[in-house]
Amino acid sequence: MVSRDLSERLRWRIQGYRNVMVDFQRDLTAINALGPESGGDGEWQRAVFIRETLAGMGLGYAREINASDIRVYGDRRPNLVLLQEGLQSSPVVWVMAHMDTVPPGDESLWDTPPFEMVERDGRIYGRGVEDNQQGLTAMIFALRAVLEEELLPTSDVGLLFVADEENGNTYGLLHVLEAVPDLFHPQDMVVVPDFGAPDGDLLEIAEKSILQVRFTVRGKQAHASMPDAGVNAHRAAAHLAVRLDDDLRESFAEIDTVFDPPTCTFEPTRRETNIPNINTIPGLDRFWFDCRILPSVPVDLVKSRIEAVSGEIAAACGVKIETAYTGEHPAAPPTSAQAPVVLAVAAAVRQVRGVEPKIVGIGGGTVAAEFRRRGIPAVAWSTCDGVAHQPNEYAVIDNMVADAVVLAHLFVREQ
Ligand SMILES: [Zn+2]
Repeated sequence: MVSRDLSERLRWRIQGYRNVMVDFQRDLTAINALGPESGGDGEWQRAVFIRETLAGMGLGYAREINASDIRVYGDRRPNLVLLQEGLQSSPVVWVMAHMDTVPPGDESLWDTPPFEMVERDGRIYGRGVEDNQQGLTAMIFALRAVLEEELLPTSDVGLLFVADEENGNTYGLLHVLEAVPDLFHPQDMVVVPDFGAPDGDLLEIAEKSILQVRFTVRGKQAHASMPDAGVNAHRAAAHLAVRLDDDLRESFAEIDTVFDPPTCTFEPTRRETNIPNINTIPGLDRFWFDCRILPSVPVDLVKSRIEAVSGEIAAACGVKIETAYTGEHPAAPPTSAQAPVVLAVAAAVRQVRGVEPKIVGIGGGTVAAEFRRRGIPAVAWSTCDGVAHQPNEYAVIDNMVADAVVLAHLFVREQ
């Protein structure tokens, strides 16, 4: 909470930035920041622009924590840290946004050019405007408002701009954590505006573990009219998928209502083409399961259940079954719902948006988990319709402005 008078000043100040924020988004969108995995040249040009913008606003020069990467221009991936002193040096209130974007995808699905931002009906359209330029813009203008109101933050504020979020964070946050391990402390408060709901009422504090499994079922190919001459790998795979579907759900039936859905999920997803013709019994069949596992359930237990079921089906069907764990991301310990950062963001959301915040866990991974893994409480929050990575990605301008107001309230919170 902040006083009513102060709250009004911050709202008024940030409302005044509305057009400048839109212009900043337009400039950002025009500077391509695709990672090399997406055929891009990294975030360097965008980082230079952000750094110039911060300095031009009088926020100071951001410190560079670059990671070397010979695949991109200048052989480096940029990370920027801007620290603003507050009345106290601790906790540091960190807001982190990523500078990279994903590619546009099929451009014929776009109504407007993905890298030329278009403003229409209170929204801005373009690749990256929601993910993660909305949060990136909001955090800059939140800090600017506090300083232009001639206030000092309650405690130090750190704005962190990272590379490589869309492709695993190796050259982004993970590099920063490794290169400057004493930058963050367990008492700090981390906000990651890279997840959100249309009302801005969801605060994400926990994630499920992700386990992706490939099953390779080997039988014996034969003519479809002579099944006894072969062993049908497809039939065995079908049995396996159905058995896993039932067995895993029953074996791991825990419920945690912080999450939506509140259970572990085990979904058969990808299937590889086995044979192109209909009159051959396939000797090989391959498919995947995508498992999202509540943090209270050990991933190894799920694995041993998978191995047991695979063994039973292999014996029953006379096939060989190989399992490979093609994706494995154990959940970080959740941030406590009572952590100071959760309470502070919730208070700011309540005051600015007039909604009652809900604490949630999600099935996907966010970069906030990397802080949690290191014992630093982190909340992912923003206000968005969730159109990241889609064609015609957009941000609602009012949401971007309101998010900046929320962050400004957080910066000058009463303790
Ligand atoms: Zn993102």
